[in-house]
Amino acid sequence: MSNWLFDAIRAAAPDPSTLFLETPRGDWSYADLFARSARLANALVAMGVAPGERVAVQVEKSAEALTLYLACVRAGAVYLPLNTGYTQTELDYFVGDAEPRVLVVDPAAEQALAPVAAKHRARLETLSADGGGSLLTAAAHASDRFEDVARGPDDLAAILYTSGTTGRSKGAMLSHDNLLSNALTLKDLWRFSREDRLIHALPIFHTHGLFVATNIVLAAGASMIFMPRFDAASVIAAMPRATVLMGVPTFYVRLLQQPGLTREATAGMRLFVSGSAPLLAETHRAFEERTGQKILERYGMTETNMITSNPYDGERVAGAVGFPLPGVSLRVADPESGAPLPDGEVGMIEVKGPNVFKGYWRMPEKTRAEFRPDGFFITGDLGRIDERGYVWIVGRGKDLVISGGYNIYPKEVELEIDQLPGVVESAVIGVPHPDFGEGVTAVVVPVQGHAVDESGVLAALEGRLARYKQPKRVMFVDELPRNTMGKVQKNVLRDRYADLYA
Ligand code: ATP
Ligand code: MG
Repeated sequence: MSNWLFDAIRAAAPDPSTLFLETPRGDWSYADLFARSARLANALVAMGVAPGERVAVQVEKSAEALTLYLACVRAGAVYLPLNTGYTQTELDYFVGDAEPRVLVVDPAAEQALAPVAAKHRARLETLSADGGGSLLTAAAHASDRFEDVARGPDDLAAILYTSGTTGRSKGAMLSHDNLLSNALTLKDLWRFSREDRLIHALPIFHTHGLFVATNIVLAAGASMIFMPRFDAASVIAAMPRATVLMGVPTFYVRLLQQPGLTREATAGMRLFVSGSAPLLAETHRAFEERTGQKILERYGMTETNMITSNPYDGERVAGAVGFPLPGVSLRVADPESGAPLPDGEVGMIEVKGPNVFKGYWRMPEKTRAEFRPDGFFITGDLGRIDERGYVWIVGRGKDLVISGGYNIYPKEVELEIDQLPGVVESAVIGVPHPDFGEGVTAVVVPVQGHAVDESGVLAALEGRLARYKQPKRVMFVDELPRNTMGKVQKNVLRDRYADLYA
């Protein structure tokens, strides 16, 4: 039988005795991965999971939880991981929406979630952070051989919910080939081989840690140092045994706060990748100064997997997200009409390719609305392509500020504010204004102990930005609200300052 994604993983695997994962609870070889995923796949099938049915999973990060993803792929099921931060009420929504055959949760949440599982007729199983729980007990008695269920390129492998940065999370339906094509492209582009060892400190309920990191490692037959969470000191301590780190921008900000981050500590590392949120050019420069290494920034989203990447060999430009990946078509279009815009102009980023998802789960209208008639997916991100072909993200369409009839791209204002002495970072938002529709509002994080004030910031921006782009107010905060992926939650800020001009 052929299973599109798992056959490729098998074909790429090195000798079975080769290390796949180094975990705090011991090492896993490739043989362990195949045997344990077979056991779990057998257990799922015994529980009645049929091809195409969903297995929803809200558990702590562990090697067993990662194996459950592969067990679902092998069993032809649709893996549906859920953010560990979701509450019971949120779980009720997701489980009702996805109608999984099995819901796997942490033993500590079993009692609280039993009614949710019962209400939506899902079988409840547990999996603990230390590799215990009812699911693993069932798997322990199962065979370590499994005949992979036949799946083609367009069959679903996963439903992954978006991060919910701009509103309620949407379930993106991802096929076997969506995942495999992207993994193979990135493996080649980023030069992964069996010699590579990736430091894995990302969560595995999100595309970055689950698909980008894991699928590339599997496609290359490489290995990972699998950490339960990000801890800057542990990451630095692991570097001498590793070759690659993938992180969100906050990883790099926190690494820079460690005196242990030096040229020597990173000498054996060949690649640092950043994505999921914009990396400040300042962080890029500071990291290079300290380590001699240029962070490679890439851009993608749950619905499309990865879209662009800075080059491995060519110039990695701070602030840019690089070129469209081989096989991915990217254009910048007029947000309203969809007409392609000439290079250099800011517009909606639209993409097409084998990486683009099959639609939002049970949201046919929403799916239709996000695709152009010629099959391009409307990302919701605004950007431009420069004369050398590099893509620059300007921000999300939903974060665009319209004040007095003018469009203001927050990033342009943020970049000016971030350059001012005494400023760590900023977020520019639009909030309701009686005269202008929206008032440009800056939320600024000052350097501790630095005297920056509203009039100082406003005065500094006078000559630098056209009048209509200048903030009407500047608010100061200790830190910007961020979600688990390190994304700034501008909707939280818009709510907080909603009455500022009322
Ligand atoms: P939701 O769609 O639910 O509002 P989300 O868009 O944050 O949440 P994800 O799919 O996790 O959910 O994130 C994709 C988004 O992250 C992209 O559309 C883009 O806005 C942002 N992003 C990812 N990588 C980068 C990057 N390198 N630079 C700037 N933005 C990035
Ligand atoms: Mg999104």
